[in-house]
Amino acid sequence: MSDYVLVINAGSSSLKYSLVDAGSGEALAEGLIERIGESEGHQQHRGPDGETESSDALATHEDALRAALDAFAKHGPSLDDLELAAVGHRVVHGGAKFAVPSLIDDALVAEVTDLVPLAPLHNPANLEGIEVARRLFPDLPQVAVFDTAFHQTLPPHAYTYAVPSEWLDDHGIRRYGFHGTSHSFVSEQAAHRLGRDLADLNLIVLHLGNGCSAAAVQGGESVETSMGMTPLEGLVMGTRSGDLDPAVHGHLVREAGWSVDEIDNALNKKSGLKGLAGENDFRALAKLRAAGDPKAELAFDVYCHRIKKYVGAYYAVLGTVDAIVFTAGVGQHSADVRAAVLHGLERLGIRLDPVRNADPAEDGLVSTDDSEVAVLVIPTNEEWQIARQALELVTKEETAS
Ligand code: AMP
Repeated sequence: MSDYVLVINAGSSSLKYSLVDAGSGEALAEGLIERIGESEGHQQHRGPDGETESSDALATHEDALRAALDAFAKHGPSLDDLELAAVGHRVVHGGAKFAVPSLIDDALVAEVTDLVPLAPLHNPANLEGIEVARRLFPDLPQVAVFDTAFHQTLPPHAYTYAVPSEWLDDHGIRRYGFHGTSHSFVSEQAAHRLGRDLADLNLIVLHLGNGCSAAAVQGGESVETSMGMTPLEGLVMGTRSGDLDPAVHGHLVREAGWSVDEIDNALNKKSGLKGLAGENDFRALAKLRAAGDPKAELAFDVYCHRIKKYVGAYYAVLGTVDAIVFTAGVGQHSADVRAAVLHGLERLGIRLDPVRNADPAEDGLVSTDDSEVAVLVIPTNEEWQIARQALELVTKEETAS
């Protein structure tokens, strides 16, 4: 069996794919298809011949995946020559059911469909990608890798909301956590870089991208995380509010006459950095700040303050912390955010080195040599983690049969 896995991340109107060598992590090809179902689509494919783009209309996810396969055939690499080992699918919500990556069959599809009420924005699109890939690759094993799975180790006191207890049984109301694929990948990388066994480490992982979440990772297991029943809870994000007094919902329904869907939409798509400063992209926000925009300054402060609160909380949860890890677009690239978040935490043994932080070296270490807590900047690679986990499962199944 080869090590090549086609990783698919299907969104409501988009399809992202990556052909990954699960052994080395090399992406042999990557592509993004957007505006599925619109009169003009947009397709990007990067392979051995470089990058190609087209704007053909693609009515369905099936058309999109067929267009991706055409791009592989035209621009390489040839999927026939490589002999894929598996297709790995990112699935956002696995509920309390899926704690590990799982082989996709009709029963799994039915279970993920049952979870749609918990993730109405994500699971239907993920299922669409699964259905299409099963049709187009009927002979290949397909593996679902859940964003929630890594956080299934949260203890009951961390995942339980203090609401009537029957809400859990009747409606699945509890915290699940997301970005698990990234948190698990980055935790493993941190252990590797520190030359330590992951089982001996306490880590605080900060995934700061368009979506943002924090996790407390003890001995390789997630024991706390900031996202909850949905990815709306926790840190301030590009367009999501993060934590909010739950009474705000009722207040807006009663006082402003808004519908629940309007409020949901505003909290998911018009809040966060965008709501505060009009920009959800951190680079654009940084430009506004540099120009002295007070709203951008406040948005930055609210964003960093929230992260700092979580660092403090997770420090208390873990008792001792070996490393704090920054990852994803903002975490990897914004020295300002890292400096603001960790400012004044010297008494907790956290000392950022300003020179290292300004331009992190290959090893990612941005704390001083005498800092008791290491601070690391580590690029996440969710595609590689999905490919690795898919290949591992398929190999295990093959050995067992
Ligand atoms: P991700 O979801 O991991 O792709 O992260 C996207 C976020 O990272 C966006 O808000 C980007 O503006 C931000 N980002 C990407 N590159 C940089 C950079 N060089 N400096 C600051 N923010 C960045």
